[in-house]
Amino acid sequence: MKKIIIAIDGPAGSGKSTTARLAAERLGYIYIDTGAMYRAVTLAWLKQNEVFSEDVICNLLDNIKIELKQSEYGQRTYLNGEDVSDEIRSIEVTKNVSPVSAIGCVREKLVDMQRELGRNGGVVMDGRDIGTVVFPNADLKIFLIASVDARAMRRTLELKGKGTFESVEEIKKQIIERDLYDSSRDISPLKQAEDAIEIDTSNLTIEVQTEKVVGFALEILSK
Ligand code: C5P
Repeated sequence: MKKIIIAIDGPAGSGKSTTARLAAERLGYIYIDTGAMYRAVTLAWLKQNEVFSEDVICNLLDNIKIELKQSEYGQRTYLNGEDVSDEIRSIEVTKNVSPVSAIGCVREKLVDMQRELGRNGGVVMDGRDIGTVVFPNADLKIFLIASVDARAMRRTLELKGKGTFESVEEIKKQIIERDLYDSSRDISPLKQAEDAIEIDTSNLTIEVQTEKVVGFALEILSK
């Protein structure tokens, strides 16, 4: 059976990761969370304790190894052989990831890796520029949106579940800042591809979101 490429983009907290992971599971596809790759570079820079500059970060890129491995719990992210899947979700990384992601050499390197990972199809890839830049010819493009209140509430609960307590207001502020940064940067800004299907997840359950994506995929596969 043909194996397609599914691109899922959208702003922070729109439900991309969970929807992409579950849709991949249903289709027997590989799930690739590209945000984790940008987070891994950010963590590497933070660990280095260096000033923020393009040169520092571009040099650093040549000396780090990022790997994505599939486990029964979904994707695990490795930095220089170490599993950093939890560490890359810290508030510190989240606060710094957008400026790091806006640097040209970072995008070039990670986009190359993403294209290689999706080369043979059979992938559900989530991010900000998958349908516009990484795979402009993806077979199915989904753009998830949700109200900022719904997104802030989801993130607050998610963090709480992991033992991190932040107010909804603080999370909302961070989400607004990150979206603004991601959508106004010069290279590959967060934006909806013209041929993407928009799904507003504000009032949808994860099951319904996943069902919609899987439904669109099956429709394409049946043609
Ligand atoms: O998806 P997640 O919230 O983990 O992404 C973290 C950050 O990584 C985003 O805010 C954005 O700055 C960056 N990113 C990106 N392009 C992608 C995926 C993520 O610039 N394809």
